[in-house]
Amino acid sequence: MMRSDEAVELLRERERDHFRDECGVFGVHGHGEAANITYLGLYALQHRGQESCGIVSSNGREHYVHRAMGLVADVFGEKTLDKLPGRHAIGHVRYSTAGASQLRNAQPFCATTDAGPVAIAHNGNLVNAGVIRRELEGRGAIFSTAVDSEVIVQLLARSREHSLEERLIDALSRVKGAFSLVVMTPDALIATRDPHGFRPLSLGRLDGAWVAASETCALDLIGASFERDLDPGEVVVVRRGRLRTLRPFTPAPRERFCIFEYIYFARPDSNLNRTNVYSFRKELGRALAREHPVDADLVVPVLDSGNTAALGYAEEAGIPYEQAMIRNHYVRRTFIEPAQSIRHFGVKVKHNAVQGVLVGKRVVLVDDSIVRGTTLTKLVTMLRSGGAQEVHVRISSPPTIGPCHYGIDTPTREELIAAVHTEQEIRNIIGTDTLGYLSLEGLRRTAEGLKHGFCDACFSDEYPVAIEDEKTTPQLSLFREVEEEH
Ligand code: AMP
Repeated sequence: MMRSDEAVELLRERERDHFRDECGVFGVHGHGEAANITYLGLYALQHRGQESCGIVSSNGREHYVHRAMGLVADVFGEKTLDKLPGRHAIGHVRYSTAGASQLRNAQPFCATTDAGPVAIAHNGNLVNAGVIRRELEGRGAIFSTAVDSEVIVQLLARSREHSLEERLIDALSRVKGAFSLVVMTPDALIATRDPHGFRPLSLGRLDGAWVAASETCALDLIGASFERDLDPGEVVVVRRGRLRTLRPFTPAPRERFCIFEYIYFARPDSNLNRTNVYSFRKELGRALAREHPVDADLVVPVLDSGNTAALGYAEEAGIPYEQAMIRNHYVRRTFIEPAQSIRHFGVKVKHNAVQGVLVGKRVVLVDDSIVRGTTLTKLVTMLRSGGAQEVHVRISSPPTIGPCHYGIDTPTREELIAAVHTEQEIRNIIGTDTLGYLSLEGLRRTAEGLKHGFCDACFSDEYPVAIEDEKTTPQLSLFREVEEEH
């Protein structure tokens, strides 16, 4: 018999599964080195998910799969890639918070249907996956993972439509929320975005083959040319080298591209909707400097998330930019602590102040966002102990007051510092002299230049698609994955 606190914990794990999934997807159709190209594509998308990854290749009859926990470079070696034959492949990188990060949830999700094998790589979160799942479970369906993609596959398997392509469209017309998908059937690569267009997905060409990727930085790495971005609600089917476009879904009233992709999540060298992320972040920094000027000697970024906005701030304010803190890029989740305690040990593992640069200086510390407030609390202390005379924190986005339900990893509302504290309180908690966030109006004004609609629910609390899953209690999984011992 399970204790009720254990049951509650499992329930929370399941909820986390549903709401926190950051991912990157990639697909290639008709290339002699499909698996290898996919490996490289995932390499470039690694920032979108570091917990698990997978590649599924196809020779037109069978699908070959390898999925594992870990980084792309650690999971895939030459020998493994050699075992993934065929001219077609899709891949996935996934991040999810502890507890939800089990191998059985790693993607691409694979299923054998009466119409052949199907593999799905999904970026985004559905807001009614739990509701559909319960409905299907009530009718006898058995689910083996906690990923939203399984709901899509179960719907697809039950669809009365004829081809896999029609069945997929039928299944997708029942789900709500965010999906940028690449799907591989025995003879086609299908790429699609939900009608709101929450998450990115771009098309490229390489040696005559078609490529789909979450971000254009993946196209750059493999030397593919950028073709175009998929439109919201568009379904693209590539078969025998030919591309067909379908628009089967009712269009959303407005596009809702995730503004946080521009602010934090995407790589700065990517273009989202043909806008360069780096340039946009710099614009945010400039807008921030205009809204919250400060008399200071140095602008210092929080590495690496604040780099570009800090540059924009420094240029606009005419204050020198200095990387007065260094970040260790090789930090893993766990490390062996010293037996005797060293002051601020935990912080210094990741960041350290550059001696001498800070002494007696008034510093503007710039980051893209504050979530729980832990990073800045540590860094402000570090700058002060490094000799900074004043520390002024500037954030290139508005206060994060709501969790994302469409595919960005954010904690619950209660854990978001700006949802439960006033700006004055946050200032005191992180110990800064002054604090300035870019205003919502300032963000929206800067985003006008993007020329498309966007979702800023995490800052505005205006959610474009209602969250249906929150109101239901998902069925508990009573299986706990036991980790392999190394
Ligand atoms: P916190 O310490 O909880 O306030 O987190 C703030 C830091 O996390 C900032 O440096 C952000 O750049 C970074 N950040 C913001 N959103 C995310 C996210 N979804 N996943 C990982 N890091 C994030």
